[in-house]
Amino acid sequence: VNPTPAGKPPQGFQWRLRSWYDRNQRPLPWRKNHNAYRVWLSEVMLQQTTVKTMLPYYAAFLKRFPNLETLAAADEEDVVAAWSGLGYYHRARNLHRGAQHIVQRNGGRFPRTLEATLAIPGVGLYTASAVLSICYSQPLPVVDGNVRRVLARLFALRGPEWQKDGPYYNRAEELLDREAPGAWNQAVMELGALVCTPKQPSCPACPVRRDCRALAENRVSELPEPRARRAVANVTVAAVFVERGERLLLVQRGEGRLMTRMWELPRSSLDTAGRPDLLAELRSRYGLSVSLGDLVARTKHTITHRKIQLEAYRAVLKSRDLPTGTDFRWVTREELAALPVAAITRKLLRAVDASQRPLPLG
Ligand code: SF4
Repeated sequence: VNPTPAGKPPQGFQWRLRSWYDRNQRPLPWRKNHNAYRVWLSEVMLQQTTVKTMLPYYAAFLKRFPNLETLAAADEEDVVAAWSGLGYYHRARNLHRGAQHIVQRNGGRFPRTLEATLAIPGVGLYTASAVLSICYSQPLPVVDGNVRRVLARLFALRGPEWQKDGPYYNRAEELLDREAPGAWNQAVMELGALVCTPKQPSCPACPVRRDCRALAENRVSELPEPRARRAVANVTVAAVFVERGERLLLVQRGEGRLMTRMWELPRSSLDTAGRPDLLAELRSRYGLSVSLGDLVARTKHTITHRKIQLEAYRAVLKSRDLPTGTDFRWVTREELAALPVAAITRKLLRAVDASQRPLPLG
């Protein structure tokens, strides 16, 4: 074993990895010709989905929307339907919006510069660099989970400075083969997917084992170091329970990464103190003025990094008319069952129902 001096790619290292990739890469459909639309689609589908799962969806989606123009001209509902089963539907909506952006702003040609590619809705640095390096040989490094793991092991990267992505980008840039950046980026990712896997990597069969510091130092199982967990924050969300006869007031969430277009009780955001900020929040978020009544339910909900105390207060509107510019709806309990309703609201409604039930006798 001839371990790498930290920071320096050894002679022949790139050649060993590239020739392994040329012989062993999987024959994936987007590798046949480097069409930017197809590569972009593959990258978006592969976020949070494995290759094996996404392949049939990929083929069906392309049959339905074979190019940027057909995707841009489609109805959003049809695009989301074609995505059905893959989950994380904001990806489909962003892809659709991105295709429209490219058709309107770029005459239907995928951009060739990083700046113009990052202007496409939903496209971040990883996706932009992957498409531009693979399709147009732009010298841009990529860093995803596979690349991070391979680099951490090859160079035995550990310590607090290797918790963030930035240093990995710098290291990937130093290693980048500027003659063939797309093939190089894919070679590193393919090594991570097939050989240098998270659990039980196949070190004896690895084409760069002689260059690997983690193997030389017998530290493969310790690397990459797990990322420090973010501390869990305790927050309070206060919501209002406004009834008119049999109907309850709900509001529809706007566009966003989380819970887009779900229905929910009007409520305070996650960044405020809850009840003390509730009236001001209802006014600023929805233009809604209410008189607050009693607390009718209290429950708990946990989402990533946040423990939420949920509270529902009875309330009446100060004006009969609802403000314009926000989507409100008065719904019966039957209608509510058929609507996409945010988890926080479902939990609160269950808690309200439970608190209104008569207490069991003795
Ligand atoms: S030798 Fe093992 S740990 Fe090192 S790069 Fe290859 S598979 Fe990964």
